[in-house]
Amino acid sequence: MLAYRHAFHAGNHADVLKHLVLAEVLRYMAEKDKAYTLVDTHAGAGGYALDGRYAQKNAEHLGGIAALYSRKDLPKPLHDYVELVREFNQNGPLKQYPGSPAIAYMLMREQDRLRCYELHPTDQRILASYLDERPNTQVQQQDGFAALKGELPPPSRRGVVLIDPPYEIKADYGKVIATLRESLQRFADGTFLIWYPQLQILESAQLVQRLKSATEPIAKKGWLHVRLSVAQADERGFGMMGSGMFVVNPPFVLHDKLAECLPTLVDTLGQYDDANYLLEQQTA
Ligand code: SAM
Repeated sequence: MLAYRHAFHAGNHADVLKHLVLAEVLRYMAEKDKAYTLVDTHAGAGGYALDGRYAQKNAEHLGGIAALYSRKDLPKPLHDYVELVREFNQNGPLKQYPGSPAIAYMLMREQDRLRCYELHPTDQRILASYLDERPNTQVQQQDGFAALKGELPPPSRRGVVLIDPPYEIKADYGKVIATLRESLQRFADGTFLIWYPQLQILESAQLVQRLKSATEPIAKKGWLHVRLSVAQADERGFGMMGSGMFVVNPPFVLHDKLAECLPTLVDTLGQYDDANYLLEQQTA
């Protein structure tokens, strides 16, 4: 059942986009003193060895972080994200890739609350040990979709939720929509970051429209949608073409920061001539 291991994909183009957005949102949250909560519903192991057996299988990081790691000419938000990955590698060669909880650990302040959910027992154990010394932190081996409602609204009413399921089972698409609807009823001010893979299947193609419909009547600050398309599906229509992030109640600065980075991401990570991006926003 739990066949998915993020170690196979760590540091690929989709992680780059996801963690760039996550880092910018967390930096924005830290601009105010008041503590905030981050709930990571599908947290993974927290860090991944890029020279390990899993990561080496398809070496997906070569089409992601490895192409950016030594660049000195990156737009500032992208530079700042790559700096976090360098910090995770003690400013040495790229050997480890930080997952979302590690990006969070580097950017959150002591007073900020971190809540991680991860179902895979091995990854949950590794993550719990990695975050052991961080104050205001819990790592649970529970279904993140189901657990989220118990976290909302967070005590300070400042909160970010990352929803990053594997989508290996199609039920995940429906669960994302249902979870977002229910969460917005409880916490209409929350910032929700939803990652999705760009695939040639109906569920993937329809997801963004369904997210917009779930968000528009309720979210107080609207939504932002960013998609980075780097590859073509194969002749049978299989393969991930790219990925997207749908952000509910985005920080107002996020659009312009991403606009600054996306042309570089297309140029650097695109695997064919028509690689492209989409950036759209609706303010409520
Ligand atoms: N968010 C992580 C990051 O950015 O580094 C990557 C997460 S990975 C895409 C998805 C993770 O969700 C996997 O580690 C998988 O074991 C876990 N998982 C799958 N179903 C889950 C569920 N219902 N609740 C919590 N975790 C789940």
